Amino acid sequence: MRDDNCIFCKIANGEIPSATLYEDDDFRVILDLGPATKGHALILPKEHYPNLYELPDDLAGKAIVLAKNMIKKLTKALGCDGYNVVQNNGEAAGQTVFHFHMHLIPRYNGDDAGFGWKVGELTEEDKADILDKIEKSV
Ligand code: AMP
Ligand code: ZN
Repeated sequence: MRDDNCIFCKIANGEIPSATLYEDDDFRVILDLGPATKGHALILPKEHYPNLYELPDDLAGKAIVLAKNMIKKLTKALGCDGYNVVQNNGEAAGQTVFHFHMHLIPRYNGDDAGFGWKVGELTEEDKADILDKIEKSV
């Protein structure tokens, strides 16, 4: 299924040109237009799935294998020092394009990409609450 109003559907299927690093029957890997660091790429499935929850298992499996192979290849090519593989689901998590995608973000020692989170603390109360909620939801 494709969504006529989705820009990533158009890019993934070649209707809108992109800087393509890799393509196969299921995916296209492109350079992000607003890179966090030099070489920031996106894995896009060619079919439209809004987020990870709705991505079929076989494509989810293929996506992580592709991510692995791409970051191995790109690490050699770019000479970067690390990689963040990031995948946002929902506005609250920073998703802005509602077509599943994975960010491959090369990291360079001392770069100022600067995303992350403030380290909190797992309290006994939170731990008990989370485990209780999970137990009640199954
Ligand atoms: P997210 O916030 O996880 O939904 O990520 C969306 C990403 O898509 C952002 O990093 C944008 O810079 C990138 N992006 C949006 N439009 C385009 C486009 N036309 N070509 C390449 N990257 C894009
Ligand atoms: Zn789409």
